[in-house]
Amino acid sequence: MIGYGRQNISREDREAVLAALESDFLTQGPKIAEFENRVSSYCDAAHAVAACNATAALHMAYAALGVGVGDLIWTSPITFVATANAARFLGADVDFVDIDPQSCNMSVERLEEKLGAARVAGRLPKVVAPVHLSGQSCDMESIAHLAAQYGFRIVEDAAHAIGGRYRGSPVGGCQYSDIAVFSFHPVKIITTAEGGMATTNDPVLAEKMRLFLTHGVTRDESLMDGPSDGPWFYQMVSLGWNYRMTDIQAALGTSQMTRLDAFVSRRHEIAERYDRAFADTELRTPFRADWQYSAFHLYCVQWHEGLGGRNRLQAFQALRERGIGVNVHYYPVHLQPYYRQFGFAPGDFPQAEAYYSRAITLPLHPSLKEEEIAHIIASVRELAGTS
Ligand SMILES: *Cc1c(COP(=O)(O)O)cnc(C)c1O
Repeated sequence: MIGYGRQNISREDREAVLAALESDFLTQGPKIAEFENRVSSYCDAAHAVAACNATAALHMAYAALGVGVGDLIWTSPITFVATANAARFLGADVDFVDIDPQSCNMSVERLEEKLGAARVAGRLPKVVAPVHLSGQSCDMESIAHLAAQYGFRIVEDAAHAIGGRYRGSPVGGCQYSDIAVFSFHPVKIITTAEGGMATTNDPVLAEKMRLFLTHGVTRDESLMDGPSDGPWFYQMVSLGWNYRMTDIQAALGTSQMTRLDAFVSRRHEIAERYDRAFADTELRTPFRADWQYSAFHLYCVQWHEGLGGRNRLQAFQALRERGIGVNVHYYPVHLQPYYRQFGFAPGDFPQAEAYYSRAITLPLHPSLKEEEIAHIIASVRELAGTS
């Protein structure tokens, strides 16, 4: 089966991991800061905090912004459940903003409407978490404009988007947000096996996330409630978690960063071949706004009912039977049984639900072989009725 996403591991990656294993530190060593600096300088962000995964980084990001019980977080229904779950960890309430049918990202128009209604109802969100679906940036300037108007904070779920650009600047630079979060799961753009990172330009938010990373414990005397007892002394100044990344993972991450741009341009090459190959079919291929450069984590097409005489399920099964590991991103989060208990129901976010009913993710990653790409193209064209 050709996976929809897959890691790319080089000899240099293996050597970097082995060197970390043989070094003095398996965790809490120098490889972490090296990886953080690599990512923050790539993204042009003042601070980067590495974590054991992006879910943990989202949890720390929301916590650093003071999200707590009864606060409200809004995100897109078309995302991985983690974006919403991390808010629930803190006892916050989650609501959603429908997607724009063209970009499939959170609709800025729907966001503005919903903010207007929320202001009247006296229940504005504390945080809005736009998700750069497939690696395509949301319209951050417009969202930041609304944040200034309505007083909410912004956490970018950039799990799909490292290596992407928004209006010429790297995603993760946080020009229009408080914090951005990347994932380094093996299907994502670069990997550390499990891993994530939060970037920010705000030193206070960075310091809070560093505390949360490791039990709220500090050796910095300026954060203590009095003088230190001595060099052994630490204090726990807030409640935190153990969300640290290991040095083994960080070494892999730093090595992967050297190929980030090559990974993303290879993803674009394959995506452009798909675009051209499917141009004469009725399959809807991913839209790309000209003001952004996608990281192309995913290539999601929309299979309209009856295309090639098949519905989406039949097309999906036929592709799997041909050894093509297609997937669907995502079942709308508000329809998950856990979220329905809060009153969400089918029909709440019609654009997200319509998108879901047609979505198929084709394999897209730098390790795809030429014959695999040719097989995917030929199979999709045949099934769409244009072979
Ligand atoms: C993968 C992903 C996450 C979670 O990342 P982990 O590193 O697996 O915790 C969060 N949001 C989105 C949109 C993702 O795709």
